[in-house]
Amino acid sequence: MAIKILIVEDERSIVKLLRAILIANQYEVIDASTGAEAMSMITSHCPDLILLDLGLPDMDGNSLLQSVRKWTTTPIIVVSARTHELDKVEAIDLGADDYITTPFGSSELLARIRMALRHTRTTSPNAQIAQTGEFRSGGLVIDYNKYRVFVDGIDAQLTQGEYRLVALLGKYAGRVLTYDFIMKELWGPCSKSDNKILRVNMANIRRKIEKSTTNPKYLFTEVGVGYRMADGESESSVD
Ligand code: CA
Repeated sequence: MAIKILIVEDERSIVKLLRAILIANQYEVIDASTGAEAMSMITSHCPDLILLDLGLPDMDGNSLLQSVRKWTTTPIIVVSARTHELDKVEAIDLGADDYITTPFGSSELLARIRMALRHTRTTSPNAQIAQTGEFRSGGLVIDYNKYRVFVDGIDAQLTQGEYRLVALLGKYAGRVLTYDFIMKELWGPCSKSDNKILRVNMANIRRKIEKSTTNPKYLFTEVGVGYRMADGESESSVD
């Protein structure tokens, strides 16, 4: 799937230039010419990266930056004619990942985009799952130190995505986690609303860890609500 970039800019000539550079480099491009339009596009289109102009007709780019940063870690690169050091400092303090002044060279722009994208991809979106130790329920063991799941002593060979899902359910074992909660925890606040990716992951996990997928021991579906991991065991309990 192509990486989607949102250009927030009211000057059509700059939008045109940015579009041409990005499309030539296989990025998918959407654009907004006002702050209000940008806000709605961010929530509805979930771009992978945002190029933001500071001088927008309806609001200052910095206020937009500030409100967007309250709920998403999507990388934002400010593209501005303001060259003053304090303008850069302010934007970066408000959460911009980078700052490019116009006029810019296309190679520099592309390099900065790659850098910003690399940065987000290596940062875990959910520090909440991070925990140490082990979770045990019957023959199931989640080893939070090794990032592995074992069933009756055998490594279930989960993919990274599957592991993250099991790790999250294990952390809240015994409680029903709604689809929405899981999606937000694993894929961030801008996660797509459809749960297909979740259902596919869950089906794969069940094949790997349940003896019978129709009569599960560990992972339960609460129809129309979400999923629940079986209760964990305390130190002294038996199977
Ligand atoms: Ca402008």
